[in-house]
Amino acid sequence: MKNLNIPNELKKLSNLESGLVESPEPLLGAETLQILLAREIHDFTVLRTEPTRELNTTVTPTSFKDMSPLLRVVFLASKQKAVESRAFRSILKTAKNTEGIQDTDCYLKGNLCMNCPRCILFGAVKTEKGKQEAIKHRIGYSSAFSLMPYEDIETAFTFNAVDERTQSTGQALGTRFTVSPATIFPSIVTLRCVTWKELIMILKTLLSTTNYGAENRIGGEIRNHIIGIVAGWEEIITSLELSLELYEKYTSNSNLNIWTNDDNKKSDLTTILEEYKKEAVFGDKIQILTDKNLGELINSVKAFQLSKKFLLSLENDVKKFKEKSKK
Ligand SMILES: [Zn+2]
Repeated sequence: MKNLNIPNELKKLSNLESGLVESPEPLLGAETLQILLAREIHDFTVLRTEPTRELNTTVTPTSFKDMSPLLRVVFLASKQKAVESRAFRSILKTAKNTEGIQDTDCYLKGNLCMNCPRCILFGAVKTEKGKQEAIKHRIGYSSAFSLMPYEDIETAFTFNAVDERTQSTGQALGTRFTVSPATIFPSIVTLRCVTWKELIMILKTLLSTTNYGAENRIGGEIRNHIIGIVAGWEEIITSLELSLELYEKYTSNSNLNIWTNDDNKKSDLTTILEEYKKEAVFGDKIQILTDKNLGELINSVKAFQLSKKFLLSLENDVKKFKEKSKK
């Protein structure tokens, strides 16, 4: 029997027990948590990596029932991870400062301290005096595919340069392709062998991070809605599957329901996840938290204080982790 020491005010976390560990360790077991998100674009956002001004897109099947090709916008995993790793570190820094706890100097890129809750969760590599030290990440990201097709969510802006002297607009300088507001990207963040404390830190990070701006810090406002958490010994669904399944529900009843507070009803998302649970290898280990129960957990996570005691215990876990990796 695991002794997770979950505090009373977060008792809903015991519904995710099969995916949590007592303390973080360098050697990974099978405990897995999948955090399902609806990343909602709140401002015209540029999602691209190449200087071509084109959005990152890819062809996927329309849905599992309709295999005809459909162009979707891609929100790359690396973009999500970079922003959230920094946000995690910022929250930690401010919380420690507020409680008068000494913090390490740790920043991307090139100066990871290898010795803080961020480094042992997100992973880190450092080379000193020719010797390389590496910590394996326990958080995993995957690219997210827009729920709706590219044609429905893309907006092109043509921008002109204004001549300050004559106030006339010159030749068009170019076109910027952006993703329109209210676009949804179903997305999954996966945690391996984390403690309830690390889960709290990640949930607070996801819920409070809103700026994913790419170029010139224009746009990029995104709101993350946590729509489900699945615990178990494996990943039961991928972010592409999640997009295709939700789109299928959307096109079949045109009223996609990813959340319900009604005890007698099930959201479409719950129905989808229950189907995937049936396909799981360790089906008896799968725990699904959605709808009203998830709402209660999220409220208790928001209310949970990053107290001195909590922060010191996170630091203590880092110490234990480092000692184990030296053996
Ligand atoms: Zn660090």
